[in-house]
Amino acid sequence: MGAGVLTGDSVGGSFHRPSSGVLHCEELPLALLAERVGTPAFVYSSAAIRAQHARLAAALDGVPHRVHYSVKANSSLAVLSLMHELGAGVDIVSGGELHRALLAGIPASAIVFSGVGKTRAEIEDALHAGIAFFNVESEGELLAIDAIAGELSVIAPVALRINPEVAVETAHRYTRTGAKGDKFGIPYDDAVAVARLAAGLPNVELVGLDMHVGSQLTNMEPYRVGVDRLLGLLEAIRDCGTLRWLDLGGGLAVPYAPADEEVDLASFGAVARHAAHVSGLELVVEPGRFLVANAGILLTRVLYRKRSGGKDYVIVDAGMTELLRPSHYLAHHRVEPVDRAPAVVGESHLVDVVGPVCESGDFLALDRELGDAAPGELLGILSAGAYGYVMASNYNSRCRPPEVLVDGTRFAVVTRRETVDDLTRLESATPRWEDPCASA
Ligand SMILES: *Cc1c(COP(=O)(O)O)cnc(C)c1O
Repeated sequence: MGAGVLTGDSVGGSFHRPSSGVLHCEELPLALLAERVGTPAFVYSSAAIRAQHARLAAALDGVPHRVHYSVKANSSLAVLSLMHELGAGVDIVSGGELHRALLAGIPASAIVFSGVGKTRAEIEDALHAGIAFFNVESEGELLAIDAIAGELSVIAPVALRINPEVAVETAHRYTRTGAKGDKFGIPYDDAVAVARLAAGLPNVELVGLDMHVGSQLTNMEPYRVGVDRLLGLLEAIRDCGTLRWLDLGGGLAVPYAPADEEVDLASFGAVARHAAHVSGLELVVEPGRFLVANAGILLTRVLYRKRSGGKDYVIVDAGMTELLRPSHYLAHHRVEPVDRAPAVVGESHLVDVVGPVCESGDFLALDRELGDAAPGELLGILSAGAYGYVMASNYNSRCRPPEVLVDGTRFAVVTRRETVDDLTRLESATPRWEDPCASA
């Protein structure tokens, strides 16, 4: 059984219940951890991240490739530094992520910059740092990068992110990015023209092709079709630059529920092997969720129970401010008691697990067999390592929770809990007015 599999007593990643029935992260009992750091809190298993990285490396064994971890899935400096230790580079989508990656010790040469709306300042910073390449998403962006690189007297390495225009089935349309008409990438039919444009620009060098077809993909068909579409462009654009990279993007799925399919890594490896062989290029893969989702759990405590309109609610101290995915994508996360194994209470005791935020959409789990969850009890929201803390907000002036990294029996608070002083640090109650219309 590989890490990340959600079956039996293994709750996923390195979360498991020894015979005591208490949920552990690696060798650390989570109840003990919650006493030390309080709730809500995100907890990440370093062993689970290492295990997922090893699974991917095994699937791509023999394929010339680089793993560029997608920072937006979990941008904790400690996680980035662990990725660096594992030999991974990163894929960033903002200047903020560039700052984090560099702070975590990731060399600029291991940074790829994706995203549809790079600003002038972000492009400048990335050029100053000397990143590996930009994944360019439009003709306008290509021209902007060329102009800025010219001002800085550097040559900007660029890959073109092509929209392969494949039909993609993802759990939610918000996680689909590679279908015709999506906002991402250069339309397939424009690809050759944009490559020729790049060839004629003085301050950019075309170094690769890129795609990212979506997220939470279990089925390899979109990769297979997308790769074929990219390979189909290759000959037409080979003379437009010095092609080195074929970037397959991210999107590898993880199981969130016991019935969820595992991603077919063997097939992914086969698609990658084919792509590398036919293109003669080195592959770049940009997994985010795959490396971290099941390495994380959100610990939360039950505050109250209540019954309203025939519905039972379990009100906990975490909500959409900590974990937005249920509310934003209608995503499913397993919820389990921490101090004891889940009891079989039957369908007659279905409850909604909801947060304290003043929004009807503030829920973590709907219609779950947690009818016996009592006030004061500790719950774990599973698979919270990706798109969890990074999407947390201060809505309702809630302080963001800590992030804790576990390694064996040890833990470290790698992001401290925010305080109310943090909440107002950037504000001032007494405006210092400026009047740009006033004459000097
Ligand atoms: C979000 C994103 C990824 C990572 O997606 P996952 O589904 O988390 O693997 C990779 N590349 C790009 C360009 C992205 O926007």
